[in-house]
Amino acid sequence: MPIRVLSDDLASRIAAGEVIERPASVVKELVENSLDAEATRVDVHIVGGGAQSITVVDNGHGIPSDELALAFERFATSKIDESSDLIAIGTLGFRGEALPSISSVARVEAISRHAESDAGARFLVDFGKTKPIEQVGSPQGTRIEVSGLFKNVPARLKFLGSPGRELSRIESMLASLALVYPQVSFSLNSDGRERLRTIGSGKLLDAVAGVYGAKIAEQMLELEPDDSAAFSVDGLISSPSLNRSNRTYLTISVNGRWIQSRRLSYAIEQAYHGFMPDRRYPIALARIRTPLDDVDANVHPSKAEVRFLREDLVYSVVQRAVRGVLSVSSPVHELGSGRASGSIGLFRIPGAVVNRERFNQFSISPSTSPAGGSKFPMWPEPTAIVEQFRLADSEGEVISDGVQGITPKETLPVLRVIGQAHETYILAEGPEGVYLVDQHAAHERVMFERVRERFEQNVIESQPLLDPVTVDLAPGAITTVHEHLDELNRVGWEIEEFGANSLILRSVPASLATRASGGGAGQILVSVLDELSEGGTGDAWSNRMLATMACHSSVRAGQILSTEECKDLIRQLEKAENPNTCPHGRPTLIQLNVNDLEREFKRR
Ligand code: ADP
Ligand code: MG
Repeated sequence: MPIRVLSDDLASRIAAGEVIERPASVVKELVENSLDAEATRVDVHIVGGGAQSITVVDNGHGIPSDELALAFERFATSKIDESSDLIAIGTLGFRGEALPSISSVARVEAISRHAESDAGARFLVDFGKTKPIEQVGSPQGTRIEVSGLFKNVPARLKFLGSPGRELSRIESMLASLALVYPQVSFSLNSDGRERLRTIGSGKLLDAVAGVYGAKIAEQMLELEPDDSAAFSVDGLISSPSLNRSNRTYLTISVNGRWIQSRRLSYAIEQAYHGFMPDRRYPIALARIRTPLDDVDANVHPSKAEVRFLREDLVYSVVQRAVRGVLSVSSPVHELGSGRASGSIGLFRIPGAVVNRERFNQFSISPSTSPAGGSKFPMWPEPTAIVEQFRLADSEGEVISDGVQGITPKETLPVLRVIGQAHETYILAEGPEGVYLVDQHAAHERVMFERVRERFEQNVIESQPLLDPVTVDLAPGAITTVHEHLDELNRVGWEIEEFGANSLILRSVPASLATRASGGGAGQILVSVLDELSEGGTGDAWSNRMLATMACHSSVRAGQILSTEECKDLIRQLEKAENPNTCPHGRPTLIQLNVNDLEREFKRR
């Protein structure tokens, strides 16, 4: 065929393919238009999962009658002009492609009355064919009804899910917008039934109550934004006891734009590390504010992703905010809530308060522990290696990952195990008081030093799987595999590429062997790859990889340990190079000081 320029109609349908993928995309574009029009109320009605009809009604400023037809032309927009740079964009829309795209693949009826006009207008576009504008009575605002979506694109229609499936996509998308815009009252009605309603009070908690229910709202913690900072984040995060099995409850926005960001989701998840069991996810809303020109919103067809000029900075702002709230509200700190600020109360993190000299005097060589039946019998003693890696400082800030130089070994006193509490903490007694050891964090520390030592010494400890498993990867993850294949092999992963986005896993690191049965191995590998894909230099990524492996090879919270097993773990921890924190920087143990006890009991 000779080269020729496509007709407008065909060009629109092709463009629509990018922007309008399914009913939820229509809802998103229409609702974003309502928000750009400064609506305080947005009502969405869905019939048949959106394939039959979608109606969005708002009370925004409306469209002047003489511009209504223009709004449906390609590249027609009131939001930017020739003088705009395409970087600092404050509106959700700016490409002028939503209305023309939608109306090329559906029948669209638009009724709108502009704020400064007495009469409304009605405009109809039937799969690209326009009808003349009519005057109609209408309240201020805009009502757009989209019916018969994709009737002229059978290929698209075929890819739609069931009405229920499409509805749930709409629902979770609208929920996210409602959370990001608590000042707007949203409702969603499907086949006559109300699915969602927020009151638009402007309070984030009210929005959460409307979306997830009042019970959940009660368990949310508030992020404390630093309004004076150029980069800040506000929002709500669930207390660690409230968690979910997947990431769909993470909502992130940047300057009012709801976005999808693996990296920033990860920043939130990582901040919960240690506060929440593995593979559980928080409910969270993080509304990031940055200078407008720090964000490029014009990089994704449906504007669901953005590019940050300083992504690392945003990452750490988010992580620090979440981590900060979590560490303040964690139970340890509550113990000290009656005390002067600055003190965390009865319990202390040992590193900071231990009187080293007294401990050293007191130290006796640890008794050898019987290994029979223990979960920790085969651990070698970690040899003295230099700790170069700190993911966190004592304030719980989990950002720096650079080399921090040689840290002197922090002494851990010899502890006598009393027992296990809540299947999570080992209770022990030492020279200066009573200690609570987090069994998972402690084991993680021990395993981390062990796998790191092997890694540095280039000792491969690998265990073949009886049945090799195939692992499906997220798009792009294969690149991470290519980049880090050497290191992955070095820690014991034996991997073969299998098709475009999957692997065959033949052997796993020996430390993971017991955990790695069934699908477990694949999941662990995926989270290791997640860590590696975060990038970073030097030790940062390898330490993150090793920390993930250590995490997965460690005993969990909630696991019952025998006294022997507790003792064994404590002995191992005593020998660790940096016994006081887990590789992610959380404390492994806290101390109830004898002097404080005496004071509390009024013995002196
Ligand atoms: P964009 O949002 O990128 O400008 P659209 O195709 O979504 O492009 O909309 C075209 C124009 O129609 C918008 O720029 C705006 O002026 C107008 N418009 C669309 N929907 C609404 C609405 N709900 N309220 C007011 N104006 C609207
Ligand atoms: Mg738009």
